Amino acid sequence: MTAETLPSQTARSEALFARARAVTPGGVNSPVRAFRSVGGSPRFIREAHGAYLTDVDGNRYVDYIGSWGPMILGHDHPAVRGAILEALAGGTSFGAPGEREVLLAEAVTRITGAERVRFVNSGTEATMSALRLARGFTGRKYIVKFRGNYHGHADGLLVEAGSGLMTNAEGGLGQSAPSSAGVPEEYARLTLVSEYNDPAALDTLMRERGHEIAAVIFEPVVGNAGVLIPTPEFLAALHRVRDAGVLLIADEVMTGFRLSLNGATGLLGLSPDLTCWGKVIGGGLPVGAYGGRADVMDRVSPQGPVYQAGTLSGNPLAMAAGLATLAVLEADPGIYGRLEAYTSRLAEGLKSAAREAGVPVSVNQIGSMLTAFHQDAQDGSVRTYADAARSDTAAFARWFQAMLGRGVYWAPSQFESIFVGAAHTDAELEITMEAARAAYAGLGE
Ligand code: PLP
Repeated sequence: MTAETLPSQTARSEALFARARAVTPGGVNSPVRAFRSVGGSPRFIREAHGAYLTDVDGNRYVDYIGSWGPMILGHDHPAVRGAILEALAGGTSFGAPGEREVLLAEAVTRITGAERVRFVNSGTEATMSALRLARGFTGRKYIVKFRGNYHGHADGLLVEAGSGLMTNAEGGLGQSAPSSAGVPEEYARLTLVSEYNDPAALDTLMRERGHEIAAVIFEPVVGNAGVLIPTPEFLAALHRVRDAGVLLIADEVMTGFRLSLNGATGLLGLSPDLTCWGKVIGGGLPVGAYGGRADVMDRVSPQGPVYQAGTLSGNPLAMAAGLATLAVLEADPGIYGRLEAYTSRLAEGLKSAAREAGVPVSVNQIGSMLTAFHQDAQDGSVRTYADAARSDTAAFARWFQAMLGRGVYWAPSQFESIFVGAAHTDAELEITMEAARAAYAGLGE
């Protein structure tokens, strides 16, 4: 990137942010976009193509957000755009079933082994609905989640929920349940919190209270405390929860169709009872889904007594985008290897640049997900929420700003994964590494 193209001009973004703050809480429609944990003013994006975002001032950035996961093929992929335009010509919403919903459900069941799937409009709806279903199926009230795992913003799930909540200006680190105002303690009490990657704690909880617990919901690879990778012992303990008649719900909203065609579940050899999807499954349009065992899923209305509905669920444009995305992923068996190769080279580059600058950084990477924690733990040894929380968020914030100033749009929080897409090539890696070397050198000074 040349000096003239470096993003120094931000007047239009700042003006839009001022207008946005007057009409929208905090000026954004989702908290982590507001840059509160890294400071400064968020960039307002005008358009996105391939691996790049362009903001309203005309600055271009190599994009590592990928819309927080959906854009695995890169922005404005021709196959996805074409499918959306074709669907658009036939009308935008019917309120009656259509063929694309059947096609996408067939693709999801074929790829993942789920016997039934129901489409909703977001990851939040998917997890919320899966939990209601688990309670309806088992007749039990309690659920278990893990500290620092995020499953969307349904009331009972905003408990020790990581991500935006770890860096929220009002909340901060280490807060106790519930982690949002407006969630009644009575709701939060039905959510039991255990430590991620602590098999003994989960076994104890199951022994003592398993008979009251409807489901354990978990991120099979965590993205929402930064990337945390599960140990084999923890995965084994997760499978054991079924001994107590507890349903195992894998939240693959972030990892589904990303870490492999069959998500983290496929990669790690997990066999959950229910799975939740979002992000990639909608190819950049609003889609979520939950699915799994037929005997459980057939309790969902209208087949069964667990109610769940949606005016725009199965929307034809959203289904078309999801179908096109999955078709490209399925047709290109080398794609996951290429994503992994790029991200591994990025991980190695970051480590060596940080080392040269004398900046302590610990990298967790799996497939196309990566977090570089600003702390001196060994690579791969950040395994829990508490480990992640030891990071130097002030150093991260300075590093983030230095990257942004050099045309690289990293996730604006220490406790997030970045997402690599198929449009990232050697050219983007080079720009990123040049920026990273300078950004680390700046921190080391
Ligand atoms: N579950 C996980 C693992 C997520 O990462 C997210 C969002 O980041 C959600 C659920 C919620 O999805 P949505 O933002 O589409 O409601």
